[in-house]
Amino acid sequence: MNTETKSLYTEAGIDEDVLQFGESVLAPLKDRFDAIDARAEYNQLKVIHAFQTCKVSEACLTGTTGYGYNDLGRDRLEEVYAAAFHTEAALVRPLIACGTHALAIALAGNLRPGDELLSVSGKPYDTLEEVIGIRPSRGSLAEYGVTYRQVDLLPDGNFDLEGIRKAITPKTALVAIQRSKGYADRRTLSVAQIAEAIRCVKSVRSDIKVMVDNCYGEFVETKEPSDVGADMIVGSLIKNPGGGLAPSGGYIAGTKECVENAAYRMTCPGLGAEIGPSLNLNTSFYEGFFLAPVVTAAALKGAVFAANLYEKLGFACLPDSTEERHDIIQAITLGSPEGVIAFCTGIQKGAPVDSFVTPEPWDMPGYDDQVIMAAGAFVEGSSIELSADGPIRPPYTVYFQGGLTWPSAKLGVLMSLQCMKDKHLVQIPTVVRI
Ligand SMILES: *Cc1c(COP(=O)(O)O)cnc(C)c1O
Repeated sequence: MNTETKSLYTEAGIDEDVLQFGESVLAPLKDRFDAIDARAEYNQLKVIHAFQTCKVSEACLTGTTGYGYNDLGRDRLEEVYAAAFHTEAALVRPLIACGTHALAIALAGNLRPGDELLSVSGKPYDTLEEVIGIRPSRGSLAEYGVTYRQVDLLPDGNFDLEGIRKAITPKTALVAIQRSKGYADRRTLSVAQIAEAIRCVKSVRSDIKVMVDNCYGEFVETKEPSDVGADMIVGSLIKNPGGGLAPSGGYIAGTKECVENAAYRMTCPGLGAEIGPSLNLNTSFYEGFFLAPVVTAAALKGAVFAANLYEKLGFACLPDSTEERHDIIQAITLGSPEGVIAFCTGIQKGAPVDSFVTPEPWDMPGYDDQVIMAAGAFVEGSSIELSADGPIRPPYTVYFQGGLTWPSAKLGVLMSLQCMKDKHLVQIPTVVRI
């Protein structure tokens, strides 16, 4: 590393030993990073191809207000998502407030009283427990007479195909699969694994709809679950596909029928996707989707770096330092509330915005335990930007993700280690000077 760059790290408060240790961890990762870049290249071409096929024009970048009838930019953007994800249709809207909202309308729109929802990847993401009614909640699917059943993943992290076949009943109308581990202590599912589960479900009854919670998974592999038979993939625009530029929003891409059903829940029966203004957000949605493959690659590099760094310090990392990635999340088990807090403090210190504030655990709506979140982001709560969060519960695992650029992700990881060092929670190994 040149002395100019080094002096800026020093100025940022990174000690010499932390920096040297970081460099020693990075040196052997070149091939990993090259492979990430190669996938980003493929996905970038895939997205540009979708833009070109759909004839995105300057006129698409202007938006509408009010009812949003005949919103060319909005409608074309949805065609672009559908083209990139190889689906018949898509809903991509600022009216969808977050990933949970997108998932909730995908479910509510496609389930009817008496239907059963079957999760085949175990317990769904925390906020969906209230949507489904696993935790009693006003307005849940349970209140509308939709029953729920789940099949856990096998101890080795694979789908329990036999269990899935057995759990399907004549009432089973929709199967939900969560690609990313979220806050669960399990592996993220690969698109190949998801393909196998979908084949299994469809072999029992082909009319069962399969919805994949695709949060954090977009553009990590060259294929998406929609390429392997999912009827719907659903995600948040303040994660991967928003590319850091979308200030809000969510998407549902899938079959025409599933997307239309979801649209009638997003607005109301009869109106569906016909209304909903894009509110002059089209440029950020288009440009964010355009950037998303390389932004996702930056986040992946940060995750790989963090796993390699913290594993060498004796902390359990999921995925581990060598594993193939299927989402951008890096779980690091720090073993104590102090560890989680110090890590998050460091991530916050490395951020471009609000670097001077100290994150604290709080009772976040939709979550059972207190949660600490570090995010000095341009978009509030955006977790494609450098961020870390974790519930304050044993085994005290922090979930690190994002970084719109690789150097910013690197700074965040180094800063997290610096804070761990300052709190005497780690010992930095001495390395040969690089
Ligand atoms: C982020 C996320 C969601 C949705 O969360 P929001 O905060 O509502 O956007 C759902 N499932 C998984 C796996 C997630 O990571």
